[in-house]
This record gives sequence, C-alpha cells and structure tokens, in this order.
Amino acid sequence: MTKSKEKVETGWNFDNSYARLPQLFFSDLPPTPVSSPKLVILNSRLAATLGLNSEELQSAEGVEILAGNQLPEGASPLAQAYGGHQFGHFNMLGDGRALLLGEQITPQGERYDIQLKGSGRTPYSRGGDGRAALGPMLREYIISGAMQALGIPTTRSLAVVTTGEPVLRETKLPGAVLTRIASSHLRVGTFQYAAQWGTTNDLQALADYTIERHFSDVKADMNRYLFLLQEVIKKQAELIAKWQLVGFIHGVMNTDNMAIGGETIDYGPCAFMDAYDPATVFSSIDTRGRYAYGNQPYIAGWNLARFAETLLPLLHENQEQAIEIAQGAISEFGDLYHGHWLAGMRAKLGLFNEEKEDETLIKNLLDAMYKHGADYTNTFRALTGGKLEGNVLFDTPEFTQWYEQWQERLSRQKESTESSQELMRTSNPALIPRNHRVEEALKAAVEDGDYSVMERFLDVLSQPYADSPEQEAYSAPPDPSCGPYRTFCGT
Ligand code: AMP
Ligand code: MG
Repeated sequence: MTKSKEKVETGWNFDNSYARLPQLFFSDLPPTPVSSPKLVILNSRLAATLGLNSEELQSAEGVEILAGNQLPEGASPLAQAYGGHQFGHFNMLGDGRALLLGEQITPQGERYDIQLKGSGRTPYSRGGDGRAALGPMLREYIISGAMQALGIPTTRSLAVVTTGEPVLRETKLPGAVLTRIASSHLRVGTFQYAAQWGTTNDLQALADYTIERHFSDVKADMNRYLFLLQEVIKKQAELIAKWQLVGFIHGVMNTDNMAIGGETIDYGPCAFMDAYDPATVFSSIDTRGRYAYGNQPYIAGWNLARFAETLLPLLHENQEQAIEIAQGAISEFGDLYHGHWLAGMRAKLGLFNEEKEDETLIKNLLDAMYKHGADYTNTFRALTGGKLEGNVLFDTPEFTQWYEQWQERLSRQKESTESSQELMRTSNPALIPRNHRVEEALKAAVEDGDYSVMERFLDVLSQPYADSPEQEAYSAPPDPSCGPYRTFCGT
C-alpha cells in the first residue's frame, strides 16, 4: 500500500484539476531525470503549511522527488501551454523548462500548484535547454521569500536542489531545480493562448475553471465573466501598488508573467530600487525602459487590457456591447491602483485621515528624493525613526520646508504621535533585499558552496519591519563604485 504510506510519511495529497481542462491547455510528460541531485535549501515552514513533512523531503527519496527523478504519489506531471506579449510582441510560449506536478491540497483545504522549474525540455521549450542555473534559482528563492515577508502576494519557493549537471549559458554553470508553489499558474497569457488557438468552448472552460479556483464567490445573478475581469483588475491594482510602495521592479512584466491569482510571479530580472528614480531599470534586455519602476502601473493596465480582449466572446454575445463592458472595467484600473498607492503612501507618512493636499505633500517628498538621489527605503525608514542623518537630502532647503509641512499635517490628525510612528514602522520596511547583498549571498553559495551567507541573509529578510541591530549592516545602499546593477532573465 504505497499510497497510504506515502501520505503518512511525506503528506502528498494531490488533486489535479488543471489536468481536467481540455487537452490543448497542456502536454503530459514526466520531468527529465538528473544525475546527482543534492538539496541545498528547503523552506520547512512552507512545507508544514502545505502539509508536507520536511524530514521526508530531505531524505534521499524526498530529494529525488524535488529533482524530478521520481514522482510523488498522485502527481500527474504536465507542461502548461500559454502565449504572451513579450515586450509588446505576441508569441506562443508555454512551460519551456517547468512542469506542474499537480495540486497539493493542504490540511487547511487550500489548493497549491507544485511546480518544478528547470526540470527539462518540454514541447514548449523552443530553442531552450529546459534547465535552470543554480544562481537564478537561489535568487528566486531569496526574493520571493523577501516579498512574502514584506506582505506582498507572491509565488513561493519550497526548495532548490542542484542537479550535478552543468548548464551552458555564457559560461558553464551548475544546474538546479526550484520547487515553486503558487495559488495557480494561470496567467494572462493562458487566456491569450485560449483566445488565439482555442474555440470559444475552450475559452469558456478556462474562464469557468478560473472562477471556480480563484473567484468562487461569484453570485448567480452576475455576469460571471465580467466579475472575473473585475476581480483580476482589483487584485492587480492592489499588487502593483504594493510593488511601488516598496520599490520593487519586476523587470519583465510580459503578459505571461502576470498571474490571474494576483501573485507576483517569475523572478527573473527583478530587483529593488535603491535611490529613488522612476526611470530605474535593472534588466539588461529592457533597453527602452518599458518595464521601468515608474512604468509598472501603466504596463499592468496594458496587460489587463489584453486580458479583457480575450474575454470579449464571453462578456456579451454582441461584440460592440462586449467591448463596452470590457472598456468600462478596464477604465477602473487607474483609479483603483491610485487609491491603493495613495493609501499606502499616507501610511508610509503616518497619516490616518485624508486631506486633499496629501498627494502634493507626497509628490514633493518624492521629487526631492529624486533630485538628491536619496535612497527610497532608507529615507522612509529615517522619517519613521526620526533619525534624520546620513542622507544628503536631509540638509537641503527643499527637505526642511517639506518636513515642516509634514509636521503640520501630522498635527492636523487626532491620532497620537506614537500611533503615527507605529503605522510608519509597519508600513516602511527597514530592510529590502539589496542587490549587492543578494549577489554576495549567491556568490558564496554558487562559487564556494557556502550557504551560510545566504542563510543569515534569509534570516534578517524574514522580518523586514523589525529594525533589529543585525539588520543594520544589510540596510546600507551599495557603494557608488559598484556602478549600475544589471540583471538577466531566462537564465
Ligand atoms: P521567462 O522570461 O522566464 O518568462 O520565459 C519566457 C519563456 O521562455 C517561457 O515560455 C519559458 O518557459 C521559456 N524559457 C525560459 N528559459 C528556458 C530554458 N532554459 N529552456 C526552455 N525554455 C525556457
Ligand atoms: Mg515567464
């Protein structure tokens, strides 16, 4: 009775609903085995919430599963098909180096995709090798963990195993497989794929499936597909505002990298902004700044418009009316986003109530930060702690004037200084995963096999609002001599 033994030991509990969609949405295939898998990092807390036994996952058999050499009981591995606009150009894509093992039902009854990334070639690999290098997989592990700790919806990283096989990029690099956990891997690109290559029935099956999985509170008397569109818009408005508030730059907001469930997905060239500058871009391939920090809300709106287009045949039988319905929903994104952003900015400045001039106050601070190259995270954290030192911004006349206005504004609310400080403390992280610190941790792990640097870093990142003494060393911006930071995707 392998099945019951498996259940007791590791806790795998699959129910694979995606595999019940029409066949055009996926290709069944097993992972490609690797020669000598070795577990290098495991998120035991996440394992526990999934109902998985960490010790079993660390056993030889557990590691074989995390590497794709063996399948857990109940898995039905498949590569998902999707399309997507990459830098504005539509392409057929799909999981080219990832496989969905299945959906784990947790002890709380929640459903999570268990996906292996770097698990070998698939029918959607195009020219790629289907593999992933260790550095980028550890990078995804670090940043997704930091995002989770910051309170930002994200896919999670359960484990990274090295494969014992090299992958060829610009140089030979050690290969790895990441286990990614997501509330689903449904993407805007999945709908684009259905709209482009499926029938209306296929599209409807996908939409109904998505509603069932993510938006099951739909009411019988609603236009259910309009509800789907509106809910996806709401979730993205909230998500992108959260990114902006902490200075997160996704780097490759292609429509295939926008998750319908509202989680941040695909940690390729992402990075956090140091000095405040809306034009900040880290990705080496984003030469025109399409996905720059300040553009993210517009790009999200653009992606959502592509999503809305896919739903037209379902929104109304009359095309003109369908377009009108879709446009009505899309037109709300800007205000929804702005509302979340403004609320978040007020909180960052310790403001509880609302005044019309708040936006000007916020803008003036950001303008001064931009002008003087002030560090985004550390400026807000200094305002929180009231320690206005070590930042050129604080000695400028613009800031002095702004500070007075801010103090006056604070005095016009009934809440105490303490509660205002507390609000700021929980709204302004003391710590973000600084690029040079991420690189330092990756270098130690990948080049020297030393994971202690990364483990210490993960530890301080797990409580970004704590402002503990151990965190201080990690909060310094990079030395200007480091030059501009560059990130790479598809690695
Ligand atoms: P990304 O830039 O990570 O969103 O990937 C874009 C597309 O390229 C997706 O369809 C990926 O599955 C695919 N892809 C990325 N890297 C590889 C690789 N090494 N082998 C095969 N496909 C890949
Ligand atoms: Mg992608």
